Amino acid sequence: MLKKHHYNVVIVGGGISGTALLYTLSKYTNIKDIALFEKYDDLSTLNSNAKSNSQTLHCGDIETNYTLEKAKITNKTASMLENYGLLYGYEDKYMFKIPKMALGVGDEEVKFIKDRFEEFKDEFPYMEYWDKEKLLKIEPALLKGRDEDENIAAMGTDKRWSAVNFGEISKTFVKNAKDENNNIEVHLSKEVQKIEKIGDKFELTVNGKHYYADYVVVNAGAHSLLLAHRMGHGLDYSCLPVGGSFYYSKIQSLKSKVYTIQNPKLPFAAIHGDPDIIKGNISRFGPTAIVLPKLERYHHAHFLDFIETLAPSKEVIEVFYDLMRDEDIREYAIKNFLYEVPGIRKKFFAKEIQKIVPSMSEDDIEFAEGIGGLRPQVIDKKTKKLFLGEAKIKTGEGIVFNMTPSPGATSCLGNAYSDAELIAKHLNITFDIRKFNKDLLDKDN
Ligand SMILES: Cc1cc2nc3c(=O)[nH]c(=O)nc-3n(C[C@H](O)[C@H](O)[C@H](O)COP(=O)(O)OP(=O)(O)OC[C@H]3O[C@@H](n4cnc5c(N)ncnc54)[C@H](O)[C@@H]3O)c2cc1C
Repeated sequence: MLKKHHYNVVIVGGGISGTALLYTLSKYTNIKDIALFEKYDDLSTLNSNAKSNSQTLHCGDIETNYTLEKAKITNKTASMLENYGLLYGYEDKYMFKIPKMALGVGDEEVKFIKDRFEEFKDEFPYMEYWDKEKLLKIEPALLKGRDEDENIAAMGTDKRWSAVNFGEISKTFVKNAKDENNNIEVHLSKEVQKIEKIGDKFELTVNGKHYYADYVVVNAGAHSLLLAHRMGHGLDYSCLPVGGSFYYSKIQSLKSKVYTIQNPKLPFAAIHGDPDIIKGNISRFGPTAIVLPKLERYHHAHFLDFIETLAPSKEVIEVFYDLMRDEDIREYAIKNFLYEVPGIRKKFFAKEIQKIVPSMSEDDIEFAEGIGGLRPQVIDKKTKKLFLGEAKIKTGEGIVFNMTPSPGATSCLGNAYSDAELIAKHLNITFDIRKFNKDLLDKDN
């Protein structure tokens, strides 16, 4: 029995994180038997799908909520995905060079952009400073209808692969992994219900059947922490699921990805406008940010799982209390709630868009039904803080859990790299880091 359903590594979850790891292990290690279990009948139907996220390859150059240090790390993992796309010829198929910028509006923000440009230009030498005059040429919609006295400026580029269809890329990971190793198995419509440590192996219960693994990596989005808690891991963490919705412009407006300046207290990108690469590049604005009592944006049956993952406690209440005590965060939470209320939401959201495209009215936009996803933001109960970005639970016992809010899709290969290192050490197998770096890192974009 052990032989039949025994694998060296089992990956739980077939989003971009799970599939990137499958590819990395298949191509750059000598592990033979690998299986991936995905509970739905296709890969990347949740957050990694192009309908669910903003399709942005986050390099750290336009994300104003990243420090230079954070931007350097993100840029490195973004380069891995760019190089992967170039290696297989996915340019203009699954990744696109759409111009992108961080926009400052008003004197204070313009100064912020100027200072940031100076700080970032050595690390990101392709970035340019664009003043009002230049922006009028590049992206006239930013100026049309704007008060003449209002100053604007941006730092931007048209030289990077900025937009990615992460869902389609995850399918290529599986295809290319199978080309490298014909022993791998991808099981769709197979939900991992339980994981148990038995001796030095793991027993996974999947649709009532048992499977065994020497090593397990859980890349199950918001469900990762649930599975961790059930095994007694990650008990210092809570998961706060933050839904994100979008609005479509009914008129053609932006040719670029336009990010605005975020309040540094918030762990999300501020509202931005992006040409939607799967909808003829029509502008999509968002995402909103609203806490939702569920683990998947468009599936309803997870309320109890939500409670289990949130693991309410004195510390969690203190984190909420501290967040809500801050006037900016309170205002942000109320505004984002209003952006979701049918009947009034368009009116409120149009005001937000007008910071980017001043001439756009509520009649020019529509709520994007069924578009959007859910960010599993992690609360560290010990420090009573919200994590900015991903979190990993390394147990040291042969199982790892990844929680992947934004920029989790961008950093899929970076995460896969660190998991492959952990697996190689634990199982005493070879991970060809030199080849990984040669293919995916040591290139000039
Ligand atoms: C509104 C929004 C905008 C975003 N924008 C960006 C962006 O522009 N750029 C960026 O880099 N990132 C962005 N992100 C984040 C990005 O979408 C995620 O970080 C990324 O998709 C996470 O991938 P994943 O594979 O870890 O998780 P997911 O894509 O959520 O996949 C998890 C998979 O695990 C499966 N699963 C769950 N439980 C089980 C189980 N028990 N058994 C088997 N399978 C299971 C699920 O069905 C799912 O397929 C955004 C997210 C949101 C919500």
